Amino acid sequence: MAHGRILFISDLHLDAAAPAVIERFIEFLRVDAAASDALYILGDLFEAWIGDDDENPAAARVRDALRALTADGVACFIQHGNRDFLLGARFMAASGCRLLPDPAVLDHGGTRFVLTHGDALCTADRGYQRLRRIVRSAPLRGAWRALPLAWRRRLAALARRRSRAYTRQAPPSIMDAQPAAVAALLRATRADVLVHGHTHRPDVHRVPVQGRERTRIVLGDWPDRSNALVVHAGGRYELRELQPAAP
Ligand code: MN
Repeated sequence: MAHGRILFISDLHLDAAAPAVIERFIEFLRVDAAASDALYILGDLFEAWIGDDDENPAAARVRDALRALTADGVACFIQHGNRDFLLGARFMAASGCRLLPDPAVLDHGGTRFVLTHGDALCTADRGYQRLRRIVRSAPLRGAWRALPLAWRRRLAALARRRSRAYTRQAPPSIMDAQPAAVAALLRATRADVLVHGHTHRPDVHRVPVQGRERTRIVLGDWPDRSNALVVHAGGRYELRELQPAAP
């Protein structure tokens, strides 16, 4: 099935409480992704993920739709977001998806891409970066996994409330990707195009790094301003707006 076309999306924030977004994602898999070689999901596929052992019908429906896609021969890669960094080996095996490191470099059609969720680029938010290091550390993840599901559910709900309160009071400027972090990543990976999500500020930016113009493509969030980056076989790419879900 060589279409030579690959797709990038991020920040779907799939949630049982918003079934229309889940249906739109499944339709996207059936129509757009099925006619492509590969699909890259750059983090926050789910609004929350407390562990692969948390069986719920919405997650199972998404997993099975991904399984149908990968069984059909379309490669699917998933990067961890800040909401679903606990997506693990069990989910990947069941869905046929592969976990992609963050950042990841991809050469396609003569263009060198660097892919990242984007939260690591928001370096001005020092409080968040500190928290990020702690919650992703091996000891804390081990301790989390050992907690009963009911405790994890309650703690995750509490963490989401606190995170929303924090986001409301934080100045918008520190919640965006920082130019120095963007330039450092492009320089270190020698990439032409940086693709990320997380900030929910979909746009295309020109970034000069070491005398060469590079591109930073920001993917949108599905509940609100969804888009997909389509990269064609010859390397030509376009950012495609998708219809927002009906409320
Ligand atoms: Mn995010």
